[in-house]
Amino acid sequence: MKIHEYQAKELLKRYGIPIQDGVTIVDPAQADAAVDQVNKELGAGQYVIKAQVHAGGRGKGGGVKFSTDRASALENIRNILGMTLVTHQTGAEGRLVKKVMVAQALDIKQEFYAAITLDRTKGMDVFMVSSEGGVEIEEVARTSPEKIVKEAVLPGFGLRSFQARNLVLALGLEGEAARQAVGMFQKLYTLYRELDCSIVEINPLVVTEQGDLIALDAKINFDDNALYLHPDVAEMRDLDEEDPAEVEAGKYNLNYIKLDGTVGCMVNGAGLAMSTMDIIKQRGGSPANFLDVGGGANVETVKNGFRIILSDENVKAVLINIFGGIVRCDRIANGIIEAVKELDLNVPVVVRLAGTNADIAKELLANSGVSIISADSFEDAANKVVEAAGS
Ligand code: GDP
Ligand code: MN
Repeated sequence: MKIHEYQAKELLKRYGIPIQDGVTIVDPAQADAAVDQVNKELGAGQYVIKAQVHAGGRGKGGGVKFSTDRASALENIRNILGMTLVTHQTGAEGRLVKKVMVAQALDIKQEFYAAITLDRTKGMDVFMVSSEGGVEIEEVARTSPEKIVKEAVLPGFGLRSFQARNLVLALGLEGEAARQAVGMFQKLYTLYRELDCSIVEINPLVVTEQGDLIALDAKINFDDNALYLHPDVAEMRDLDEEDPAEVEAGKYNLNYIKLDGTVGCMVNGAGLAMSTMDIIKQRGGSPANFLDVGGGANVETVKNGFRIILSDENVKAVLINIFGGIVRCDRIANGIIEAVKELDLNVPVVVRLAGTNADIAKELLANSGVSIISADSFEDAANKVVEAAGS
């Protein structure tokens, strides 16, 4: 799960990490009060107006604007709230800005990058810093990887102080700022662990002209499987920022991820779902989605899965690829028959069922009168669905 910058900053604050603070609003009518509050409570005479969307690169896209006075702040709030913000992470269609943060402007002396995520190859969390902050870190990683310094964190030990010091030295920090940074990095790692984050990223982490170390931006993603442990974090979810089909699928415990191809896939088991996507690609097609209907698939799951797949206008054909292990193929077949009868299907459906009761399932489908294309093997199914999607 992703959250907004203003929410991530609330969490940083909770862990005692200094942030560029502000007030977040959803309505232009709140603009005056927000500017007043930032001025009064944070003593700011200058402001940064920041679009709140679940995508990075807002600055470059025109979603972060500096205002040297109140009038300009109000104008920038009006312009940003309701704009369609296009960044390298939103795709060409952009993202409608529904929330805006009115933040205190800071005088920046230096910009750094700091992030924590899981290094799957090492099997350890990795804490990364770079003196090249404020810019796209992907670019730094590509052109000058030596400018990203990493410390792998031993599970159970946390970020040790010598590691925090190594990172701080790598940034060239000295004196008071260095002392603040060591403490901040350890708190950041504690937050990452305690809240079951998958990413914590501060870009930029700044040293102000006054010598203070402050998180100017914050991005935090969470491990969805651990969200039930953190109801307060789960509450931060903003459905406006998520794909509606994915949200709908979540309600039925379907693992659905929308992609941009034309072959809809309904599969049970994540491994089979991934190999299904692979084979579709290999045969020259492209998957419209990843969908794992899970081990306990039944008539309802199949129907809901169908509805969600077909809500995507790009879908030109559907492949149902089910291995009956725990789930029985005849139950799936009944689900398919009901779904096809109930929903107005206007694309070809290829079905491959294998495993428990596959023979009964085939008979059910053959006698049902519904129009589906039956496949004998995985390869056969892939060939047929790619052909159906192409024609
Ligand atoms: P992003 O573009 O989505 O990563 O949004 P950021 O919150 O990182 O803001 C983009 C850039 O705006 C930062 O890298 C800073 O250079 C600049 N910026 C944001 N807040 C301030 C501020 O208070 N003072 C100054 N001088 N620049 C700021
Ligand atoms: Mn940033």
